[in-house]
Amino acid sequence: MTQSALTVLQDVFGFSSFRAGQAEIIDSLIDGHDSLVLMPTGGGKSLCYQIPALVREGTGIVVSPLIALMRDQVEALKACGVQAEVLNSSLSQAQQQTVERDLAEGRLDLLYIAPERIMQSRTLALLQRCALSLFAIDEAHCVSQWGHDFRPEYLKLGELAERFPDVPRIALTATADTRTRDEISRALFNQTQKLFVASFDRPNIHYRVAARNNARRQLLDFIQSVHPNDSGIVYCLSRKRVEQVSQWLVDAGFNALPYHAGLSAEQRQQHQDRFIREEGLIIVATIAFGMGIDKPDVRFVAHLDLPRSIESYYQETGRAGRDGQAANAWMIYGLEDVYRLRQLLADSDRSEALQQQDRQRLEALLGYCEQVECRRPALLGYFGESYEGNCGHCDNCHNPPELNDATEEAQKALSCIYRTGQRFGAAHIVQVLLGKRSERIESLGHDQLSTFGIGRNQPKTYWHALLRQLLAQGLLAVDPDGYGGLRLDPSCRPLLRDQASFAMRQDAGVSHSRSPKKASAKQHIAPEHQALFDQLRALRLELAREQSVPPYVIFHDATLKAMAEAQPETLQDMANIHGIGQHKLDQYGEAFLDLLIETAARQ
Ligand code: ADP
Ligand code: ZN
Repeated sequence: MTQSALTVLQDVFGFSSFRAGQAEIIDSLIDGHDSLVLMPTGGGKSLCYQIPALVREGTGIVVSPLIALMRDQVEALKACGVQAEVLNSSLSQAQQQTVERDLAEGRLDLLYIAPERIMQSRTLALLQRCALSLFAIDEAHCVSQWGHDFRPEYLKLGELAERFPDVPRIALTATADTRTRDEISRALFNQTQKLFVASFDRPNIHYRVAARNNARRQLLDFIQSVHPNDSGIVYCLSRKRVEQVSQWLVDAGFNALPYHAGLSAEQRQQHQDRFIREEGLIIVATIAFGMGIDKPDVRFVAHLDLPRSIESYYQETGRAGRDGQAANAWMIYGLEDVYRLRQLLADSDRSEALQQQDRQRLEALLGYCEQVECRRPALLGYFGESYEGNCGHCDNCHNPPELNDATEEAQKALSCIYRTGQRFGAAHIVQVLLGKRSERIESLGHDQLSTFGIGRNQPKTYWHALLRQLLAQGLLAVDPDGYGGLRLDPSCRPLLRDQASFAMRQDAGVSHSRSPKKASAKQHIAPEHQALFDQLRALRLELAREQSVPPYVIFHDATLKAMAEAQPETLQDMANIHGIGQHKLDQYGEAFLDLLIETAARQ
């Protein structure tokens, strides 16, 4: 069994070996078992049903909620020589008839269908007349009524079990929490399926979180030094900010486009299509961008504002480096984020239980940001997975932050807040600590307080960082009235009484935009191969335009990189390169070989 699956992996998809978890899932499905698969974004879920569909007799039916995603997957499959089609409302009547005929006559390996379509009696009758290899239910968390992506049609998919008792089903999702998992299992399988939980680790992603001091300069530094020609996504919270940031990037000479709910549906679609089809394009987006975008060569995801939870952060950063090549998840955050999020929670009219849950989510994310040790155990721990040791591939591993005792400074700040009446925001508190005179301070009499000027020994950035860390640890609270006044939380009492100490993360807030290190594992490309790599990319883009497919449908970056390194001289040599299956070799082998030979001759 495994043998033929492996042969398909190599001959059709051109990959040499399975990723963690794939082989078992594929074997189980080939053997006819039902299964639920939890795998992170970019983990490689699609092959888990595509390969069994090719190994087993009959057509594999894939239920997927996103029409755009279906189209991309089908294009990519066709480029590998797989007989795949979609059946959804984007097709004309005539096109639908052709697809239905191909299906009935057994010519299709895979058919992608929208969930509302599949349960129509006409479609069911059609399927009943066909030989089916399996049902794959993608984005299976859409069945969950608690989640954000609930789709009522998904609930009906459980009926497939009675109608097609001999056809194995596989449901897949990147949402890891146990409640969603249980809901899927109950709704789709009556809890009888096998469960596969792959590791949520994404070893090729380098994580970095820094204090925000000059967002524009920090972002430009990061992109210019690490990703000057790469595709990436920059997330911001508001539309206004999205427009502003994409303008910064355009002004700095980058190819950047905005994406937010204020643009027309047509514009959004156009920007998304360009992102998929062009190289080196940066999308600046609100969180609404990304679901269902299967672009494998997104090299970085940057957050200029804190997302809502570790889950959102992980989903969003997971869109980087699906192809397994080095990618960066980069985030800056500041005191204002903590303020904003705490306030949002305080304002919310959700039930006490849900608010409690929201607070815990926020705490977890803040904890992650202020983390002093390796970031991976913290991230994976959130998904219930343990990670031993240091990953060696995050900012804290490369550059362990120093923890310094700041008990005395923390006490100064807390008593300054106390003495000014627990109603002023951070900016005012820092002014008082620094002993800055102003009309306002004098009229309030704050220049007469014993805490006036007791913080002159440290710079302003230090005090901001300290307040942020006190807030992040919950020793301070933000007034819910909307003015951002800081209050002491009862939990700070031991610290004020000298019964507890406070350690502060030293680099946060005081570091002035040191440029981040390049992701060092699986470094991009050696300088001596860069020129050839660029030529190969140019050829790929030309072919992609001719055939109007996204460039990565032709070859992934990893394949071009391997080609530039190995410089094969024959089609046979070329067949050994990662990502080149038989069909792609037949289609594109000659063109790339010509380029390689020509270049070699000129050297
Ligand atoms: P997911 O749906 O889990 O987010 P995909 O199925 O889109 O992930 O896979 C992510 C990327 O990884 C795709 O570009 C795919 O071609 C690639 N990939 C999957 N499995 C393998 C493998 N065994 N070897 C190499 N690349 C793989
Ligand atoms: Zn680490």
